[in-house]
Amino acid sequence: MRNETLETWVLLATAHTTPARVHWCDGSEAELNELRDQLQAEGILQRLNERTHPGCFVHRSDPSDALRLEQRRFVCTPRRDDVGPTNQWLPEEEAYRSVWPLFAKAMSGRTLYVVPYLLGSPRSKFAQVGVQLTDSPWVVLLMHTLTRVGHVALEHLGRSSDFARGLHCLDSCRLERRFVVEFPATQTWWSIGTAHPESSTMLESHFLGLVGSLAPEEGYLGEHMAVARITDPAGLELCIGAAFPSGCGKTSFATLSPCLPGYRVEMVADGMALLRVGDDGRLWALNPAVGINGMIGDGQRREGLSGWAQRARNVIFTNVGLCSDGSPWWEGGGKPYRPEVRDWRGRAWTPGTHAAAAHPNARFIMAARDFPGLSTDFDAPDGVPLSAIFFGGRRSTLVPLIIEANSWEHGVYMAATSRSEVAPGLGEPSGVLRNDPMGMLPFCSYNMADRFRHWLGLGRQLRRRPRIFHVNWFRRDESGRLLWPGFGHNARVLDWALKRIQRSADAQSTPIGGIPRSLDMTGLSLGGDALERLLQVDVGGWLREAAANGIFLERFGKRLPPDLHREHRALLSRLQAATN
Ligand code: GDP
Ligand code: MN
Repeated sequence: MRNETLETWVLLATAHTTPARVHWCDGSEAELNELRDQLQAEGILQRLNERTHPGCFVHRSDPSDALRLEQRRFVCTPRRDDVGPTNQWLPEEEAYRSVWPLFAKAMSGRTLYVVPYLLGSPRSKFAQVGVQLTDSPWVVLLMHTLTRVGHVALEHLGRSSDFARGLHCLDSCRLERRFVVEFPATQTWWSIGTAHPESSTMLESHFLGLVGSLAPEEGYLGEHMAVARITDPAGLELCIGAAFPSGCGKTSFATLSPCLPGYRVEMVADGMALLRVGDDGRLWALNPAVGINGMIGDGQRREGLSGWAQRARNVIFTNVGLCSDGSPWWEGGGKPYRPEVRDWRGRAWTPGTHAAAAHPNARFIMAARDFPGLSTDFDAPDGVPLSAIFFGGRRSTLVPLIIEANSWEHGVYMAATSRSEVAPGLGEPSGVLRNDPMGMLPFCSYNMADRFRHWLGLGRQLRRRPRIFHVNWFRRDESGRLLWPGFGHNARVLDWALKRIQRSADAQSTPIGGIPRSLDMTGLSLGGDALERLLQVDVGGWLREAAANGIFLERFGKRLPPDLHREHRALLSRLQAATN
């Protein structure tokens, strides 16, 4: 079946970028193998030891392109107010004057790949179609790994013109010409000069920006959220969504191995979820992706990833070190240094010569089906019902391990005012504290105040609302040591949340919400007053936090929903009452 809108758009892009060839991707295994061969020939991929790491590769990015783009991302809408105070607005004429010309002849001599992809199961009426045009075989490989590519998407699309359009051009990865520009009104994205997964595949732009902005008409929301199915020792199964900023533990949450006996955690979604109200009045979450795109951060090096991803098949490791025996290497991964390690740029490396063998934003990417802890619901066409939502962030001080919201509206307020320290290995200077509402700061291409309104509206439509919690795994003591071991030990926090859902645990009511009176600490001794500090509410500190958030909320002016004003004033008066 021909789709004229799609063909016209491909012709337009071809005329402007002048590629030597156009290749329509069919999503087949043969195509995938060809891409890998080509990337190996170009030295971008290197096969790992087939015996110890079957199907695995090391990928080396351009050294200047190891971080996600944030400062050079712009959103084009007719009015500045449509993007709100958390986005960089660009008038459309300006985008056509200064960025569009960068694409002129930019694919000369190269192949333009047309990548039709589907977000969501083909059996799902909620699936979304996008078409990515790119001259980077690496980006095609990423799309293959993360989404359903080829005929399946074209069939779903039929003759419809309702599809997201991405135009991506490698343009030799030139730093000074690196841009991401989004046009939400026409479901269009441009990306140039980068091959970083999140800036080049534009899946976040598509799913989090666009699906989010459709919410009021279509009745759903695109969230930066991992979803896990948790089984407790009594066999009760519940699903929980974890919506944290980038680098704050979504993938780790969905791949957690619980430290408490009898618990099981399975991954339903790695970092994107489509939320909607089900006919049963519950909140349902659907996983749109088929791959896992994760960071190899400090913690994963120590904990989870060093275990399962080191053993998994068909994993592509980006910007890690490489041993001469064909195995990947990273600091803290538990493997001893051997003299033959090459660093992430392929240079001979010895400890101390230059920074580290693995880049701080080293990553891995793999098909979800190769992850041993995958839930059978990861491609359920209707998704799974959520019993709770965890919002959260990275806070070395003040914010307790877990807070339970008093109500849906309070929970939306907590999520809307959540601040987080930028994780190491992201584009921004790390450690900077900033408001990152619902973990959506770099992705929400429309006015965040509208998003808050959607969330409040969602609550009104739900007959059985999930409970909302706010978690923080990242508290540190004065000398910078983590107060909480995190990862598998977060099962202790999950255990409390599950019991709250079943009304079998107590919460201490505080001005900021419900806090555990105790946690199951079997087999863990934190020493000193660590647990007390993790569960303590510092009223003075929270007054300062609320003041900062008041200034943040002011930035939305009249567009901010009144419910959030009310929650803000209520919090202030509860805090003030507690100081007297
Ligand atoms: P995502 O980007 O939200 O999916 O985050 P990841 O799960 O990839 O984790 C990002 C970073 O946070 C990595 O450096 C992890 O090691 C770290 N991290 C994740 N969960 C925890 C935790 O429970 N405790 C601590 N201390 N670090 C964590
Ligand atoms: Mn992740």
